Amino acid sequence: MKDRFERNIEYLRISVTDRCNLRCRYCMPEEGIKDKRTHSDMLSLEEIYEVVKACTNIGINKVRITGGEPLTRKGVSGLIKNISKLDGIKDIAMTTNGLLLKEYAKELKESGLHRVNVSLDTLNEKKYKHITRFGSLKNVLEGLDEAKKVGLLPIKINIVLIGGFNDDEIEDFVKLTIDEDIQVRFIELMPIGQATDWAKENFIPNTTVLDKFKELKPVPRADKSSPAEYYKLPGAKGLVGLINPISHHFCGNCNRIRLTADGKIKPCLNSNQEIDIKKVIKSGGDLEETIRIAIQQKPLRHYLNEGQSIKRDMMRIGG
Ligand code: SAM
Ligand code: SF4
Repeated sequence: MKDRFERNIEYLRISVTDRCNLRCRYCMPEEGIKDKRTHSDMLSLEEIYEVVKACTNIGINKVRITGGEPLTRKGVSGLIKNISKLDGIKDIAMTTNGLLLKEYAKELKESGLHRVNVSLDTLNEKKYKHITRFGSLKNVLEGLDEAKKVGLLPIKINIVLIGGFNDDEIEDFVKLTIDEDIQVRFIELMPIGQATDWAKENFIPNTTVLDKFKELKPVPRADKSSPAEYYKLPGAKGLVGLINPISHHFCGNCNRIRLTADGKIKPCLNSNQEIDIKKVIKSGGDLEETIRIAIQQKPLRHYLNEGQSIKRDMMRIGG
């Protein structure tokens, strides 16, 4: 359906959990999430399915499963299988840290998942352990291989660009696109969650990538609602994407809403507005109507770079 500003809302991002098997320094505190909610505060997989079903009735055709780490939620393949059978669903993707992909890629593909975005901020084992606090790069690389093997394509690798940490690896990441049909996407670090108080030097513009690679040429956007601007090296098989979550230049084309693991609809990632859909489910209310109202409340744009701050961390919103 269209919102008040004539944007066609057709994309639902679902956070299936706020738990994670990593503790990326910019995202999660070392001890994990503090105010642990009880199981009953979270949407069950059946409830998530009911929300998705209602969403398809009002024109949602694209779904992304995220978190926290979605692969730590038991039964996520079953949820994907059920969603894939819904009329109108054209695309099901997942954002994952990739640690468990080797184990689950085949099952996910068979359940109807189309593709994965894998978050990977460094290609160096030691640095990976540092930024994630205890993860193993080897597991992620094996997961990526398995995802390619079973056909979860196109593969997108998301790198949060952190000054003084991985800006020296831009070249290595960009070069991955030469021989492989993958998308390597640099995301600017956002001052939310654990990164709220990070040093100024850690926040660098992703145009640093273009400064380092003058031969990158812009590629026309296939999907106008995508937050990424794409570039290509001459003769390369893959693409390089730049995503600036703060600049609001893509708010005008935004086609998405979010469902949090604790049952809130967020019409905008960068706004504190939330609609309690769990309450509606519990009271047997009209899901479709609630989602329609949420879409009508979607703001024209966010005001993050104008002093507005976000109460929820990324792993609670579903990045
Ligand atoms: N655990 C999964 C993963 O890491 O892909 C999915 C959830 S995670 C919250 C989604 C994405 O948000 C990841 O790519 C992560 O790097 C990104 N993210 C988390 N905190 C961020 C921040 N402060 N600024 C920019 N991106 C952030
Ligand atoms: Fe976990 Fe993803 Fe946050 Fe890292 S970015 S701590 S993998 S939710």
